[in-house]
Amino acid sequence: MTSVDTLMQPDAQGFFGPYGGQAVPEHLKKIMDEIAQAYVEISQTQAYQDELAELYQYYVGRPSPIYFAKRLSAHCGGARIYLKREDLNHTGAHKINHCLGEALLAKHMGKTKVIAETGAGQHGVALATACALVGLPCEIHMGAVDIAKEHPNVTKMKILGARLISVTRGTQTLKDAVDSAFEAYLEDPQNFIYAIGSVVGPHPFPMMVRDFQSIIGREARTQFPQLTGRQPDYVAACVGGGSNAMGIFSGFLDLPEVKLVGVEPAGRGFAIGDHAATLSYGQPGTMHGFHSYMLQDPQGEPLPVHSIASGLDYPSVGPQHSYLKDLGRAEYHAVDDQACLDAFIKLSRIEGIIPALESAHALAWAMQKAPELDADACILVNLSGRGDKDADFVAEQLGL
Ligand SMILES: *Cc1c(COP(=O)(O)O)cnc(C)c1O
Repeated sequence: MTSVDTLMQPDAQGFFGPYGGQAVPEHLKKIMDEIAQAYVEISQTQAYQDELAELYQYYVGRPSPIYFAKRLSAHCGGARIYLKREDLNHTGAHKINHCLGEALLAKHMGKTKVIAETGAGQHGVALATACALVGLPCEIHMGAVDIAKEHPNVTKMKILGARLISVTRGTQTLKDAVDSAFEAYLEDPQNFIYAIGSVVGPHPFPMMVRDFQSIIGREARTQFPQLTGRQPDYVAACVGGGSNAMGIFSGFLDLPEVKLVGVEPAGRGFAIGDHAATLSYGQPGTMHGFHSYMLQDPQGEPLPVHSIASGLDYPSVGPQHSYLKDLGRAEYHAVDDQACLDAFIKLSRIEGIIPALESAHALAWAMQKAPELDADACILVNLSGRGDKDADFVAEQLGL
């Protein structure tokens, strides 16, 4: 079997097996290498580790608990379902884990501005929060269409002091926001930093963001045996770019008896533009600065994608997931919008926990799997975020 080091550590060019790398112009490669070097140096110092550990504990509220969903398990029948409660973090999801890491790194590197795009505003709010905390200017690019749709998050970013750029070109959504933010970054990449929102983009971001999120897996590996006397049979997480999944998977990679399951959005069907199940239906390709499975047209342009959970509608996936898929160390399944909505309502009404629509995908998979397993089997679901942001939308969908 491939050693855990090989599964975890990219090579010197940033490849996990054939995936990853730095598909960017030469001058940007140099800057990415500087970030990689600064990250490796700083992350090994005690001061940085202490600073991040203290923020995780006293600011984010870590460790997040693991909760046995007893009533939901009884409802499904079969295996016991446990939840890693990332929804209880400050700002309501796992994204704060890597945004704090990126903001601290930016401060240590003397960067003068943190730039990013946001789709539904989740990454924007988490990053604006982290930048407020470390005292760095933050500039968030967001499509005008998304700005009109996502009022609470837009307001939060403004309150937190971020500069919000409304992007009015093209379809005025995420893709155009990425282009706009990247152009702003290229004006001065030496002094600015582009804070990528998942385990995607050129090296070192897939490795770095994974490291910041790996706190989830380290905690879970210690907590689960304390609770049950053993490790789980399955660890499941939703996969958009793949950061919350890589975070929890990384705690269990060296335990072959623990099966790792990534859950992608099957959306409303398998036609182009109706889903975002990259690992289930995509092919290896290159875009956004890295090589991975992608949903691409023959010209290499990203295909349109859809999911009821806006945090999952990305036409590629982190390179480490592509590698884990090819090696068979993780399996990837797709869950559609309807099953997601059903899981959302079930968890709300049976356990009194309103999950994010993203997280409800992983939960839906667990609810389908549990009845196939016997009563002493355990499934640990990473509940990546809470559903406050989705409440109005779901109520409208269901006519509540
Ligand atoms: C953004 C988001 C995701 C998707 O991002 P990953 O990088 O795949 O983890 C999942 N869940 C929640 C709650 C999110 O906000």
